[in-house]
Amino acid sequence: LDKMSLDLDLRMSAANEARDELRVVLGALPVGVVVVEGDDEITLANEAAESLLGSSAQSMAALFPAPVRRAVERASQGSPAVEKAVVGSPARSLAVTATPIGDSGVLLLIQDTTEADRVEAARRDFVASASHELKTPIASIRASAEALEIALERDPDRAPAFAEMISASTIQLSRLVADLLDLSRLEASRMTFATVDLSRIVTEVAASFRTVCERADLTLTVEVEAVDVWGSESDIAVAVRNLIDNAVRYSETGGRVGIGVRNEGAWGVVEVEDSGEGIPARAISRVFERFYRVDQARSRSIGGTGLGLAIVKHVAERHGGKVAVASTLGSGSRFTMRIPHSHDGSGISEEPRHR
Ligand code: ADP
Repeated sequence: LDKMSLDLDLRMSAANEARDELRVVLGALPVGVVVVEGDDEITLANEAAESLLGSSAQSMAALFPAPVRRAVERASQGSPAVEKAVVGSPARSLAVTATPIGDSGVLLLIQDTTEADRVEAARRDFVASASHELKTPIASIRASAEALEIALERDPDRAPAFAEMISASTIQLSRLVADLLDLSRLEASRMTFATVDLSRIVTEVAASFRTVCERADLTLTVEVEAVDVWGSESDIAVAVRNLIDNAVRYSETGGRVGIGVRNEGAWGVVEVEDSGEGIPARAISRVFERFYRVDQARSRSIGGTGLGLAIVKHVAERHGGKVAVASTLGSGSRFTMRIPHSHDGSGISEEPRHR
């Protein structure tokens, strides 16, 4: 009897240990796990399930949203079910998988898909916008090529105008492709970070705009102090080029473009100021969005792709930095990009961030 009692004790404590272990494992899972028995009796629910459904295990079954209830009903009749549900405020999307277990039980696995859904919707929007943007110059090239053929046959004097249209649309198309490639490279590749001389990068990029500014009768001033930052030289150069390119393109003949580089606490700061057309207050918060333009036709006519500032924002953020704009409609804009001096200087993580 003693031996039996000892054996039972050992088995009981082993069972208790296994149950405690299971509880720890279930508690640590980011997925909600619920077991429903018979008629809406919850026999197990982990912390993630309680927080995702916003209810305690006791009241959970009564508060199941309709899609979860449907999934439980179907699984309790023997067929596994997958449903989507939206719960709470702010609304969160849940993916619920219900699987029959045992005689009359149902195992529910609940996943928060809010962020994944948002990313997927943004990706779909981006593909739709990019396709639309690509279609516009392609359609124009096609129409102009047809018109050119006809003109060469019937009215050769009109041919050069169509050839010019083809050339302009081709340039627009290649700008778009270049920006799309920049963006996808920035998103996909691991960045190689090092200490880079921000002042030199900006001075070199600014110098490449001298001739364009002279031709457009724009006064270009560059004021730099010695500034080093922790980053990717080529990506910072792309961002600076986009900022200066915009300042030049959105300025009127006779205007000013001022470029500055300075130290400001933990940041290296690049400032690009222009005396151009400015940005209306309603658009300020949107100019960094992909394909957002204040004036579609105007942007296209001066060779814009709607991606320049999205690329700048991406570069700044991947460096743990930020970009901001201040602008007055009719009198000019000032874009400020901040990049940390060092990888441990301003809250940026030791390693560069990768997505
Ligand atoms: P785009 O290729 O159209 O210039 P961007 O992403 O570079 O695209 O800029 C988005 C929009 O922000 C532009 O279409 C333009 O309306 C506005 N914008 C950007 N930079 C300037 C600037 N320096 N002055 C006035 N408007 C600007």
